[in-house]
Amino acid sequence: MSRFWSKTVKGLTPYVPGEQPKLTQLIKLNTNESPYGPSPKAIAAIASANTDALRLYPDPNSDALKQAIAKVHGLTSNQIFVGNGSDEVLAHVFLGLLKHDAPILFPDITYSFYPVYCNLYDIAFENIPLNEDFSISINAYLEKNNGKNGGIIFPNPNAPTGRALSLKNIKDLLDQNKDSVVVIDEAYVDFGTESAVSLVNQYDNLLVTHTLSKSYALAGLRVGYAVGHPDLIEGLERVKNSFNSYPIDKLAMAGAIAAIEDQDYLKKISQAVIDTRAQLIKSLDQLGFETISSSANFIFTKHPQHDAAKIAASLREKHIIVRHFKMPRVDQHLRITIGTDEQCAKLIAALQEIV
Ligand SMILES: *Cc1c(COP(=O)(O)O)cnc(C)c1O
Repeated sequence: MSRFWSKTVKGLTPYVPGEQPKLTQLIKLNTNESPYGPSPKAIAAIASANTDALRLYPDPNSDALKQAIAKVHGLTSNQIFVGNGSDEVLAHVFLGLLKHDAPILFPDITYSFYPVYCNLYDIAFENIPLNEDFSISINAYLEKNNGKNGGIIFPNPNAPTGRALSLKNIKDLLDQNKDSVVVIDEAYVDFGTESAVSLVNQYDNLLVTHTLSKSYALAGLRVGYAVGHPDLIEGLERVKNSFNSYPIDKLAMAGAIAAIEDQDYLKKISQAVIDTRAQLIKSLDQLGFETISSSANFIFTKHPQHDAAKIAASLREKHIIVRHFKMPRVDQHLRITIGTDEQCAKLIAALQEIV
């Protein structure tokens, strides 16, 4: 604390990301990164980018990237907003589309950056509890405060539970919630969930966010985007151009475009994660773990006889790191990122010794 801090800074509670250990040789299953490398075409594009041009600012509108994203989704560039990771996109979404008089709504158990942004931007929010089985109930959102809200946001599939809502449920929500923006954070959509991007031409209050950090294996590049009605996108551009008008650097542009154009590679490594996930859940079942059905590149699991924090600590001694949240309702669960088959086999061997 310093007397020079602003009142805003004194009141902040920053987001705490999962650990990025400096040690190598760890099996790192704590932050939902891909165990596979990114598309070789993305690496090649970055390597062959015109580095002489680095003395110049990048394109402030990231037009080539927006075009590549629009093409993949069958949309137009004015329906696409891009940022340095979807966290930056979300920051602009909170300020630009979710800051209203009525409180915004999101689940009690969800991505913990949402309350952090609310705190930063002074946005009122109310949590809607997940059902007992950690599923999201659309009706609870529609009924809250007689249907008056400043906006609704949740990940689909949700994090850290991994549970997904069907597209039909999302459609039902949109059909009945027309007066505020609904943001579907699809950070994990490529691991087996139907995307709501297919609905953006039908609903002018739907915004869908994606990231290249998880399924594209490019967490280090920092690229994410939002898809929605051109008027929503224009609102985000206004915030962006009041904050940092050159968000995507030239190397990230080159890599992101090539990665997005390589949908075959995306499908291949996403399917590998889905296959490993099924096998991992089976092995955990055999050890007595209870695992929530997952549509993400992680699983959320607990053991009825063993304390989750202790399991996490024991795994760490064996050089495997997983994520434990000291939060109500989920402090007996562990979130474990799907690694390679080999990493998951080592995880199971370690857990066999622990439980
Ligand atoms: C990982 C994640 C993000 C942010 O990813 P970026 O790396 O900033 O693109 C956003 N939402 C959820 C739910 C996530 O898990």
